[in-house]
Amino acid sequence: MSTIINDIEIIKAESSKINEVDFDNLTFGSVFSDHMLVCDYKEGKWQAPKIMPYQPITLDPSAKIFHYGQSVFEGMKAYKDVDQNVWLFRPLDNFKRLNISSKRLSIPELPEAYFMEGLKALLELDKDWIPTNDGSSLYIRPFVFASGQGFHASPADEYKFIICTAPSGSYFSGDVKVLIEETYSRSANGGVGFAKAGGNYAGQFYPTQLAKAKGYHQVIWTDDNTHEYIEEAGAMNIFVRINDTLITAPTSDRILDGITRKSIIELAESEGIDVEVKKITVTEVVEAAKNGTLKEMFGAGTAAVVSPISAFGYKGTDYELPKLNDTYASFLKKRITDIQTNKTEDPFGWRFKVV
Ligand SMILES: *Cc1c(COP(=O)(O)O)cnc(C)c1O
Repeated sequence: MSTIINDIEIIKAESSKINEVDFDNLTFGSVFSDHMLVCDYKEGKWQAPKIMPYQPITLDPSAKIFHYGQSVFEGMKAYKDVDQNVWLFRPLDNFKRLNISSKRLSIPELPEAYFMEGLKALLELDKDWIPTNDGSSLYIRPFVFASGQGFHASPADEYKFIICTAPSGSYFSGDVKVLIEETYSRSANGGVGFAKAGGNYAGQFYPTQLAKAKGYHQVIWTDDNTHEYIEEAGAMNIFVRINDTLITAPTSDRILDGITRKSIIELAESEGIDVEVKKITVTEVVEAAKNGTLKEMFGAGTAAVVSPISAFGYKGTDYELPKLNDTYASFLKKRITDIQTNKTEDPFGWRFKVV
């Protein structure tokens, strides 16, 4: 049976898988909700989206995603408060960034209504899948890729936009020990580092494996030219606290414009924390570690919100960060998650009510 709401056709799953899921022991992004949204680009335009049961998709072996890597994605979360209201966090920013990423990879941009109305309809339908345990949420993965056929190295003429959701526990990674990268780069001037392109991740896996083999969990990416400027922490933006000043690198065509990053900057400033958006050199971080003024380093991104770094390695030496009781990292993480989950007022207007 199918119904059409706001141009969106909904084909419901015959039965729900929700009773098979242990909501008290959720990992991150490994079980999927009953439905997904699918929207096709063909004959020069995005066709009306459809919601259907979560299922595998079929592609021609010559589909250009496999050969030329035209694929971009987003990462978002939906939260349910104690009154069962469903919230998103700055969703229009994800929509805009998806199109910024698409444009860079010659993927046709999506209409706002298909993204926003499609996402709302999907969340309404699968709202029972939004976990309520502390720290958990429904992780949302919107993505667009080239489904059009042919080995010709040119943009495809057909694409798919899909949104899948996955009830997820908190993305607690424990003490993260990182390696400052001196050889490899995740992005370059004029490249696609600012885009959430799948290929950026593929290029990170090998250097990260090498770092893991040396006992580190993640790589701190430095600039491709000199490896002297600290740019990102794995797939997160990076913050460094020297004395009481919180520093983060300015966005550029090498650095992703993270929504968590910009929210942390605004929140910290509104709380009277001294924030500087400026280039950070490896030398100044090593010096600060040596003279005791380096207080904290943390990554910032949707999945973990804030991920504290306990130590970093550079040129064969490991530098431990101090173990502080009151960190900016935990304070800012609590402030931001309280806003996301409607536990506190939202003076910034970031929260977005779905139902
Ligand atoms: C997604 C991502 C981030 C974080 O962005 P958010 O909008 O905060 O989730 C940071 N760096 C990279 C490379 C990313 O892909």
